[in-house]
Amino acid sequence: MTSDAPVWPVVKRLFGEHAREYIPRYAVAFFFMAIVAGSTALTAWLMRDVINDVFVKQDRQALTWLPLVIAGLFMAKGFAAYIQEVLLSRIGNQIVAHMQKRLYDHMLRMDVKFFQERSSGELITRMSTNAQAAREMMNLLAVGLGRDLLTVISLFVVMALQDPLLSCVLIVVGPGAAYGMRQLSRRVKKVAGSEVNSMIQVVSTMRETTQGIRIIKSFQLEDKMREQMAACIEAVQRLNNKMVAVKARVNPLLEAAAGLAIAAAVAYAGWRTISHGQSPGEFFAFIAALLMAGEPLRRLSRLQLQLVTCAVQIKMLYDVLDTPAVEAEAQAKPQLVVRRGEVRFDKTSFAYTDNTPVLNELSFTAPAGKTTALVGLSGSGKTTVFNLLQDLWRPSSGAIYIDNQSIADVSLSSLRRQMALVSQDVFMFEGTVRENLVGALKDVSEDAVIAAARAAHADEFIRRLPQGYDTPVGELGGRLSGGQRQRLSIARAFLKDAPIILLDEPTSALDSETERIIQTALQSLTGGRTTIVIAHRLATVAQADVIHVLDQGRVVESGNQAELLRRDGRYARLHRLQFGDLAAQS
Ligand code: ADP
Repeated sequence: MTSDAPVWPVVKRLFGEHAREYIPRYAVAFFFMAIVAGSTALTAWLMRDVINDVFVKQDRQALTWLPLVIAGLFMAKGFAAYIQEVLLSRIGNQIVAHMQKRLYDHMLRMDVKFFQERSSGELITRMSTNAQAAREMMNLLAVGLGRDLLTVISLFVVMALQDPLLSCVLIVVGPGAAYGMRQLSRRVKKVAGSEVNSMIQVVSTMRETTQGIRIIKSFQLEDKMREQMAACIEAVQRLNNKMVAVKARVNPLLEAAAGLAIAAAVAYAGWRTISHGQSPGEFFAFIAALLMAGEPLRRLSRLQLQLVTCAVQIKMLYDVLDTPAVEAEAQAKPQLVVRRGEVRFDKTSFAYTDNTPVLNELSFTAPAGKTTALVGLSGSGKTTVFNLLQDLWRPSSGAIYIDNQSIADVSLSSLRRQMALVSQDVFMFEGTVRENLVGALKDVSEDAVIAAARAAHADEFIRRLPQGYDTPVGELGGRLSGGQRQRLSIARAFLKDAPIILLDEPTSALDSETERIIQTALQSLTGGRTTIVIAHRLATVAQADVIHVLDQGRVVESGNQAELLRRDGRYARLHRLQFGDLAAQS
């Protein structure tokens, strides 16, 4: 096989990871493949007796047993082929399942940066198409090396026994054709790689469309999207056509070669029968074996091309698996112990991408058990503070402390356990309302769920849902209002009962009744807990114990509302800008 294709390293790794588990079952499959190969060769072998005994000698006994044996052989072959195929498919499906679970598990342990750097379409393709390639490769190898190779070898034995000289000629001619195949595989490898990439773009565009359909419609982006999609689809189509052309070129080549070989064999064998009086049986057995070897040989000759295609895809899968899982917990890290719950940023700097700093030596303290409001213009870095605090991203310099323990030095799971995020975009997974409230928490009693929902003023509307707490969230679709979602998010936080609350207030206004309910719920949630709130509401800032004004990733003013208004600086200006008339009324 060629050394430039990444086939063998991939095969070695795939086998290394899977073979041990599947060896017994592969062995059984190989046994049945041997039966397929053996019965095929025997059928060819029997052609000699069919011709010599039945037709030449006109032996009546042979006329009885030969058809029976032939029928039996074909049945045995059919049965063995069935078992082998079922076995292989099952192993293959298990390999796909295993790969997909492993990949998903790995992805979950990657940080947010990993997901930001890759489109979801790309990851979805890895998960589906590329994982399937693992099954295909194992099957290709098993069928290729097992059934086809065994069949070809046993047929060749038949040929060699019938006519050694002709068989030698075949051995010389065969490798020439193989060399031709190898040249073609280079092209296929290139085309296969770009095909997968184009497919990723189709999936990405589709995902953008489903997620942004409302924006697409309201901004009338249909034509633009159509063009974009058409370009992607056409690229895949072009590449597919190219691939077909490259692959299909193999067939006519083989066909021509086979024709020449058979023509030469007929001429030679006929001459031997006519001139040397050899019985025709051997010749027919030889030809039968040769013809029967055609199909498995053809498959074998395509094997490398197919393996290369698979290897390219599996390699992409391994690329993801080999990206170190950033969030894989270092076992040695100590647990975060929260006693009071003071949060402190100490000269923390951070940038999402290399060149645009988002936080500049940001320092501030959120006192334990108090409410700290972060205010500032959009883009000033408020959400980033939350991202860093949950260790979704890591600061480039400086540190973040919770009760004087640097969050970089404690275990990630203990850190995230101590915080509850109440945000404006409430993520709901497939499952019932109850399951969504409970989330990852263990041993949560029904009473606790209801108590949390009550405290969040969510119990009442949940009970009015078609199946109450058992209503599948998926069926609700967009039926939950913004206020209801917000209350579910608050109920979740109540259940989690974490000492630190991160609250991202909704930017869009709710009606005043809902607003009042939510405020009451939030007050009881945040009471006594360290709360950091990205504030958009006047009521929130007014009640906050400390307000930090952020500008370009720095705290530019701190104090409570009265102090800051008196100072008539940044906050006072922002206050007028954001709350305008509301502030005047209050
Ligand atoms: P705020 O919450 O105050 O509106 P953010 O913390 O969301 O501000 O954003 C601060 C800056 O960081 C903005 O310039 C924004 O464009 C940028 N930013 C936010 N999130 C990301 C991200 N995931 N990747 C790259 N840049 C980001």
